[in-house]
Amino acid sequence: MLGSAVLVLNRSYMAIDVTTARKALVLLYKGAAAAVDEELRIFDFDSWRELAAARGDGALGTIQGFIRIPKVILLQTYSRIPRREVRFNRFNIYLRDRNTCQYCGAHFPKNELTLDHVKPRSRGGRTTWENIVCSCIPCNLRKGGRTPQEAGMRLVRAPVKPAWWPTSKFNASHLVKKEWLPFLSFVDAAYWNTKLQED
Ligand SMILES: [Zn+2]
Repeated sequence: MLGSAVLVLNRSYMAIDVTTARKALVLLYKGAAAAVDEELRIFDFDSWRELAAARGDGALGTIQGFIRIPKVILLQTYSRIPRREVRFNRFNIYLRDRNTCQYCGAHFPKNELTLDHVKPRSRGGRTTWENIVCSCIPCNLRKGGRTPQEAGMRLVRAPVKPAWWPTSKFNASHLVKKEWLPFLSFVDAAYWNTKLQED
Protein backbone atom coordinates (compact mmCIF):
# COMPACT_ATOMS: atom_id res chain seq x y z
CA MET A 1 0.00 0.00 0.00
CA LEU A 2 2.91 2.36 0.76
CA GLY A 3 4.18 1.63 -2.71
CA SER A 4 0.96 2.62 -4.45
CA ALA A 5 1.09 5.52 -6.87
CA VAL A 6 0.17 9.09 -5.94
CA LEU A 7 -0.16 11.92 -8.43
CA VAL A 8 1.85 15.03 -7.53
CA LEU A 9 0.50 18.48 -8.48
CA ASN A 10 2.53 21.65 -8.36
CA ARG A 11 1.08 24.84 -6.86
CA SER A 12 -0.69 25.54 -10.14
CA TYR A 13 -2.50 22.20 -9.94
CA MET A 14 -0.47 20.91 -12.81
CA ALA A 15 0.40 17.21 -12.77
CA ILE A 16 4.17 17.03 -12.61
CA ASP A 17 5.04 13.65 -11.22
CA VAL A 18 3.95 10.33 -9.82
CA THR A 19 5.36 9.29 -6.48
CA THR A 20 4.80 6.54 -3.93
CA ALA A 21 2.30 6.71 -1.09
CA ARG A 22 5.24 6.50 1.29
CA LYS A 23 6.87 9.67 -0.08
CA ALA A 24 3.51 11.41 -0.39
CA LEU A 25 2.77 10.81 3.31
CA VAL A 26 6.18 12.14 4.29
CA LEU A 27 5.56 15.31 2.26
CA LEU A 28 2.11 15.63 3.82
CA TYR A 29 3.47 15.11 7.34
CA LYS A 30 6.20 17.70 6.82
CA GLY A 31 3.67 20.20 5.48
CA ALA A 32 5.39 20.25 2.11
CA ALA A 33 2.24 18.93 0.44
CA ALA A 34 -1.51 18.86 1.05
CA ALA A 35 -3.77 15.91 0.30
CA VAL A 36 -6.53 16.35 -2.29
CA ASP A 37 -9.68 14.22 -1.97
CA GLU A 38 -12.25 13.11 -4.58
CA GLU A 39 -14.20 16.35 -4.11
CA LEU A 40 -11.01 18.33 -4.72
CA ARG A 41 -10.90 19.57 -1.14
CA ILE A 42 -7.49 20.30 0.34
CA PHE A 43 -6.29 18.83 3.65
CA ASP A 44 -3.21 19.26 5.80
CA PHE A 45 -1.83 16.30 7.71
CA ASP A 46 -4.03 16.74 10.80
CA SER A 47 -7.29 17.33 8.96
CA TRP A 48 -6.47 14.48 6.58
CA ARG A 49 -5.88 12.18 9.53
CA GLU A 50 -9.28 13.11 10.94
CA LEU A 51 -10.91 11.91 7.73
CA ALA A 52 -9.30 8.58 8.46
CA ALA A 53 -10.55 5.12 8.18
CA ALA A 54 -14.29 5.63 8.33
CA ARG A 55 -14.48 4.97 4.63
CA GLY A 56 -12.07 2.09 4.86
CA ASP A 57 -10.38 2.73 1.54
CA GLY A 58 -6.66 2.95 1.48
CA ALA A 59 -6.42 3.39 5.22
CA LEU A 60 -3.14 2.72 6.94
CA GLY A 61 -2.76 2.02 10.65
CA THR A 62 -0.39 4.35 12.47
CA ILE A 63 0.49 4.76 16.12
CA GLN A 64 -1.89 7.70 16.41
CA GLY A 65 -4.72 5.99 14.58
CA PHE A 66 -5.47 5.67 10.91
CA ILE A 67 -4.54 7.73 7.93
CA ARG A 68 -5.79 7.39 4.40
CA ILE A 69 -3.40 7.03 1.54
CA PRO A 70 -3.96 10.07 -0.68
CA LYS A 71 -4.38 9.53 -4.43
CA VAL A 72 -3.39 13.10 -5.24
CA ILE A 73 -1.19 15.57 -3.38
CA LEU A 74 -0.63 19.27 -3.96
CA LEU A 75 2.84 20.64 -3.31
CA GLN A 76 2.84 23.64 -0.97
CA THR A 77 6.36 24.70 -1.67
CA TYR A 78 8.11 25.53 -4.86
CA SER A 79 8.54 22.29 -6.75
CA ARG A 80 12.01 20.85 -6.85
CA ILE A 81 10.77 18.12 -9.12
CA PRO A 82 11.86 19.01 -12.62
CA ARG A 83 9.46 18.66 -15.47
CA ARG A 84 10.76 15.85 -17.57
CA GLU A 85 11.05 16.05 -21.27
CA VAL A 86 9.53 13.16 -23.13
CA ARG A 87 12.20 11.57 -25.27
CA PHE A 88 11.33 11.52 -28.92
CA ASN A 89 12.07 7.99 -30.01
CA ARG A 90 10.43 5.01 -31.63
CA PHE A 91 9.52 3.35 -28.34
CA ASN A 92 7.76 6.43 -27.00
CA ILE A 93 5.87 6.99 -30.24
CA TYR A 94 4.54 3.43 -30.08
CA LEU A 95 3.64 4.09 -26.47
CA ARG A 96 1.84 7.35 -27.27
CA ASP A 97 -0.12 5.71 -30.07
CA ARG A 98 -0.67 2.59 -27.97
CA ASN A 99 0.49 0.31 -30.78
CA THR A 100 -2.51 1.42 -32.79
CA CYS A 101 -2.43 2.33 -36.46
CA GLN A 102 -3.43 5.98 -36.50
CA TYR A 103 -5.18 5.57 -39.86
CA CYS A 104 -7.35 2.46 -39.49
CA GLY A 105 -7.43 2.43 -35.68
CA ALA A 106 -6.48 -1.24 -35.42
CA HIS A 107 -4.09 -2.56 -32.80
CA PHE A 108 -0.95 -4.35 -33.97
CA PRO A 109 2.16 -5.94 -32.49
CA LYS A 110 5.11 -3.55 -32.73
CA ASN A 111 6.78 -5.48 -35.53
CA GLU A 112 3.71 -4.98 -37.75
CA LEU A 113 3.72 -1.23 -37.30
CA THR A 114 5.81 1.35 -39.04
CA LEU A 115 6.31 5.05 -38.39
CA ASP A 116 4.67 7.34 -40.91
CA HIS A 117 5.36 10.99 -41.71
CA VAL A 118 1.85 12.51 -41.83
CA LYS A 119 3.09 15.22 -44.16
CA PRO A 120 5.57 13.28 -46.32
CA ARG A 121 9.24 14.04 -45.99
CA SER A 122 9.34 14.70 -49.73
CA ARG A 123 6.98 17.65 -49.08
CA GLY A 124 9.07 19.04 -46.27
CA GLY A 125 7.34 17.09 -43.49
CA ARG A 126 9.53 16.99 -40.41
CA THR A 127 10.41 14.18 -38.05
CA THR A 128 8.67 15.52 -34.96
CA TRP A 129 6.06 14.39 -32.44
CA GLU A 130 3.48 16.36 -34.41
CA ASN A 131 4.25 14.75 -37.76
CA ILE A 132 5.03 11.10 -36.92
CA VAL A 133 2.40 8.46 -36.22
CA CYS A 134 2.20 4.69 -36.01
CA SER A 135 0.80 3.13 -39.14
CA CYS A 136 0.14 -0.46 -40.12
CA ILE A 137 1.88 -1.57 -43.28
CA PRO A 138 -1.27 -1.75 -45.48
CA CYS A 139 -2.27 1.81 -44.46
CA ASN A 140 1.30 2.99 -45.02
CA LEU A 141 1.34 1.52 -48.52
CA ARG A 142 -2.08 2.92 -49.33
CA LYS A 143 -1.06 6.41 -48.22
CA GLY A 144 2.22 6.30 -50.11
CA GLY A 145 3.87 9.70 -50.59
CA ARG A 146 0.63 11.59 -50.10
CA THR A 147 -0.90 13.66 -47.34
CA PRO A 148 -3.86 12.07 -45.51
CA GLN A 149 -6.24 14.42 -47.32
CA GLU A 150 -4.87 13.46 -50.73
CA ALA A 151 -5.10 9.78 -49.85
CA GLY A 152 -8.62 10.19 -48.46
CA MET A 153 -7.48 8.96 -45.05
CA ARG A 154 -8.12 10.41 -41.64
CA LEU A 155 -6.00 10.31 -38.53
CA VAL A 156 -7.56 8.63 -35.52
CA ARG A 157 -6.02 11.35 -33.36
CA ALA A 158 -3.89 14.37 -34.16
CA PRO A 159 -0.34 13.57 -33.05
CA VAL A 160 1.03 15.71 -30.24
CA LYS A 161 3.99 15.67 -27.93
CA PRO A 162 3.02 14.01 -24.64
CA ALA A 163 2.74 16.77 -22.07
CA TRP A 164 4.36 15.10 -19.10
CA TRP A 165 6.26 12.09 -18.09
CA PRO A 166 6.35 10.27 -14.80
CA THR A 167 9.46 9.05 -13.09
CA SER A 168 11.12 6.04 -14.58
CA LYS A 169 10.16 3.81 -11.66
CA PHE A 170 6.60 3.81 -12.96
CA ASN A 171 6.52 1.97 -16.20
CA ALA A 172 4.12 2.29 -19.07
CA SER A 173 1.83 -0.44 -17.88
CA HIS A 174 0.98 1.67 -14.89
CA LEU A 175 -2.69 2.63 -14.91
CA VAL A 176 -4.21 5.99 -14.22
CA LYS A 177 -6.43 6.24 -11.16
CA LYS A 178 -9.82 7.86 -11.52
CA GLU A 179 -8.92 10.48 -8.91
CA TRP A 180 -6.16 11.70 -11.20
CA LEU A 181 -8.36 12.45 -14.16
CA PRO A 182 -9.41 16.00 -13.22
CA PHE A 183 -5.74 16.94 -13.28
CA LEU A 184 -4.68 15.23 -16.46
CA SER A 185 -5.21 16.86 -19.80
CA PHE A 186 -6.97 14.82 -22.43
CA VAL A 187 -3.64 14.09 -24.03
CA ASP A 188 -2.05 12.88 -20.79
CA ALA A 189 -5.00 10.66 -19.97
CA ALA A 190 -5.22 9.26 -23.46
CA TYR A 191 -1.52 8.73 -23.43
CA TRP A 192 -1.63 6.68 -20.31
CA ASN A 193 -4.67 4.55 -20.51
CA THR A 194 -8.38 4.85 -20.51
CA LYS A 195 -8.74 1.99 -18.10
CA LEU A 196 -9.14 3.03 -14.51
CA GLN A 197 -7.41 1.41 -11.65
CA GLU A 198 -9.57 0.44 -8.70
CA ASP A 199 -7.73 -0.21 -5.49
ZN1 LIG B 1 -3.84 0.80 -40.56
